Formats: sequence, C-alpha cells, structure tokens
Amino acid sequence: MALITKQDFIDSIADSLQFIACYHPIDFIQAMATAYEKEQSAAAKDAIAQILINSRMCAEDQRPICQDTGIVNVFIKVGMNAQWDTDQSLEEMVNEGVRRAYMHPDNVLRASVVSDPIGKRQNTRDNTPAVIHTQVVPGDTVEVHIAAKGGGSENKAKFTILNPSDNLVDWVLDTVPKMGAGWCPPGILSIGVGGTAEKAMLMAKEALMEPINIHELIEKGAETAAEKLRLELFEKVNQLGIGAQGLGGVTTVLDIKVSDYPTHAASLPVAIIPNCAATRHTHFTLDGHGAAEFTPPSLNDWPEITREVSSTTKHVNLDTVTQADIETWQPGDTLLLSGHLLTGRDAAHKRIADLFANGESLPEGLDFTNRFIYYVGPVDPVKNEVVGPAGPTTATRMDKFTEMMLDKTGLMGMIGKAERGPTAIKAIQKHRSVYLIAVGGSAYLVSKAIKSAKMVAFEELGMEAIREFYIEDMPVTVAVDSSGDSVHSSGPQEWKQKISEITIKHSP
Ligand code: SF4
Repeated sequence: MALITKQDFIDSIADSLQFIACYHPIDFIQAMATAYEKEQSAAAKDAIAQILINSRMCAEDQRPICQDTGIVNVFIKVGMNAQWDTDQSLEEMVNEGVRRAYMHPDNVLRASVVSDPIGKRQNTRDNTPAVIHTQVVPGDTVEVHIAAKGGGSENKAKFTILNPSDNLVDWVLDTVPKMGAGWCPPGILSIGVGGTAEKAMLMAKEALMEPINIHELIEKGAETAAEKLRLELFEKVNQLGIGAQGLGGVTTVLDIKVSDYPTHAASLPVAIIPNCAATRHTHFTLDGHGAAEFTPPSLNDWPEITREVSSTTKHVNLDTVTQADIETWQPGDTLLLSGHLLTGRDAAHKRIADLFANGESLPEGLDFTNRFIYYVGPVDPVKNEVVGPAGPTTATRMDKFTEMMLDKTGLMGMIGKAERGPTAIKAIQKHRSVYLIAVGGSAYLVSKAIKSAKMVAFEELGMEAIREFYIEDMPVTVAVDSSGDSVHSSGPQEWKQKISEITIKHSP
C-alpha cells in the first residue's frame, strides 16, 4: 500500500500556500471579469479593474495578491485506510508547512497571526498556528482544502439564531449592509443554516472553498430549498447596490453559497462568512504517489484591462497640499497622490494613545503635522523592491483613535479602506480633515506607486511599525470629505435606486 509521507504532506501544504498567495482561482478571475464588464458605476468599475490588474501582476511576478496574506484555514479528510510514514501529528505537519510557506526566502508572506489574543497579542512570526478541521472518511487518500483567509473579510462574519418562524432572507438583507465594505466586495457570501452554533459557522466556512458556480445554477434552475435561497439572495444582495469596495455599483457578490444541516425544532442558526477580493483557496488529494502539484492559470485567463486617468482626476502633492485644497475635495473624487506620507495601523495608534495618556511625547523624528497617514501593514520586500505588497487595511479599526490623532498630532488626513464609523466622521468634520480610500485587494499594484520607504518609529512592531513612504501617483478616492459626507453612504444609496430602476439581470 502507498504511504503518505511526512515530506510529501508538508511540501504540499507549503507549496499550496505559496500558490494561493499569488494566484487567484480561475473561477474567481472569470467572475470578476464578468463583473467588470457589467459594472455601470465608474468608481466600482475602476476598483474592479485595479483588483484584476493587481491579480495578473501578482501571477506574472509571483508576489502576494494582498498585503494581508491571511490566517491559514485547512479542512482535511483523512481516509480510514490511509497509511502514513511520519513521526509528527497532522497538526504539527500542517504547521510546519505553514511555517515554510510564510518564511519562504524568495517570497516571504506576511505573518499576521498573534498568540495570547486576550493578552500580549504577540506575533508568532511564522503565521502559525493554522486553524485545522479534520474528518475521518472512507478510503485511503488524504484530501485537503486550504485557504488563506484575510482578516478584513473574516472580521465581518456574522452569526445569529433566529426563531424558526423568522424570515432568513430579511435577516441577511438587513445584516449585509451593516457589514460595510471592510470585506472588500465584490466577493462571495457563504451562509450556513441549521445544525448548532458551531456547525452553522463551519458549514459557511467550508463552502467558501467551493468553486463559483451561481451561473450554472441560474441556468439549471433551483431544485432544493437551499438552491432557491442561493438564487434569491444572489439577486437581492446585488440589488442592495453596495458595489465594489462599497462605492455603490451593480455587483456586490459574485456568488452566494448556502449549506444546510438538520437542526433543533426550536432553532434556526444562521452564519454568514464573506470571502473578499483576495479569495485564496485550493484543493489537493494525496494518494501516496508524491506531493501535490499546482498549475497556475494562463496569463490569457485575465481580461485585457487598461486604466485610463480620467480628465477629472486631480494630481495632489502631499508635501505642499493645504487645508484649503482638501476642503475642495468631494466624496467620490479621484486623486493621484505624490509626495511623502506616514504609515501606521492598530498597534502604532495604540502606542501613540498610550504615550499621550502617560503625558509623554511622540518618539523623536515622528511628526504628523500636516501629514497624511496610510493605514497599512506591508509585506516584506524581496529582491530590489522598496516595499512588498502594501494595500490599505480596514479604517474603522482606527476610528476610536481618530479624534486623538487629529486633535493632538496635527495630522491632516487619512488613507485606508472601506467606510468610517460615526465617531471618526464626527472627528473628520470637526477638524475639517479628509479620509481617502485605496482599493483593498490591489496591494501589489499600490506598492508600485511607492518609490522609497524608511523606518520612522516603533520598529519592533514589524509590519505595524510607522514608516515614511515616498509615493508617485498613488490612486485614491475621496471617501469622507471635510464636511463629513461619505461616499459609502451616498454611493450605495444612489446605486440601490438605480438598480431598482434599470433591473440589472445578473445572468450571463
Ligand atoms: S482583499 Fe481586503 S479583506 Fe481580503 S485580505 Fe486583502 S485587505 Fe483583507
């Protein structure tokens, strides 16, 4: 009988993670290409264009699609008759594969996992441990579904237990707009219904690793209650008008997955887990004949897309921009930024808040006066790169620090992804500041606008340290203007209305 060796298993895990970090699944590329063709909102179409161009560049250069290279999720089906040649547990082998993949010297992936989550939250430095689910099944092979799940989309997971008589569709349609755009739509929403609390979440997560095939279902027609629900939600979620990056548009979801399981007569557990613009997963089976192999898509699988700079795009020099300039910017305006900016995200903001709370000053050399901050935690550079993929992170996590930053540091504006909450908008309005967004899921493309990077403060925070970037022509959109008006409110509202008027059909 063929043996599944430790080496083959670890190599397969490591190779699969390097593979999915750089290559979108082909069904995702095709679904995004269709969304690009159908999109009628200029802002959403440009966001999809950036995601597709970024995706192709990553495939060409074998660099990560997103700066958040994810936490590893693995579903393993172990055949009851599978034979192993290993001295390690399944968990140890998975984690060894993760370690090798994320520390690969030619393509280091960003380590995002922290241990002691309610205490010190220290980065484990090699992205271990993975989250592993194992099932024992008939057969003699080992089947693995593996994903690298971004924090922005995982953070938007929702769960409830409805009454059996409640309307599940209403709950989903009420919940999805509240998820905001931090999950970097368009993507996939996976819904687990039934079982128990953990079963519903697990079903939702596992179904995210299935191929995008809603159009086959549209053609075939729904036969089961779950299929009917998929079709109904696919249409109704897209009619919400949220659109790419929450800018307002006709495509919010590329597919809806629904999995169900028998449940208690008193319960209707429902879980939603989204997958984002960095949908990363693959599947392999080991049968004792060597490690798994992964075939990249052909470069012809990406649509030919060129972005043109619109005549209304404003060129902004961050080194000379004035308060009067930023007060002319309107939500939805597109800008090309050049000059110097500072970076920082969760941990750096917390450090700054703690310094001020203790009556201390900012570290020497760190001065935010009249500067912009970019919420980013980049991937380490390789070869002659200045910085690795460096897309924006979800800005709402910085909302509680915004008043402090604007009030105490002289900060002029912020760049991140997705909407701001009421606290941050109030602070922006009060200080006549501005919030700009870059496209989440286009991290490698964004990094090409960064011409130099230097460490400024909190180096020990690793990817969360404060750096200074010099950028040229970095594309951004004005999301919250100095009056506090937000494109994430006006865009979806406008497109919800337009969609109801033009009745877009999401069929091929
Ligand atoms: S595409 Fe958006 S949600 Fe997904 S990993 Fe990247 S930043 Fe996070």
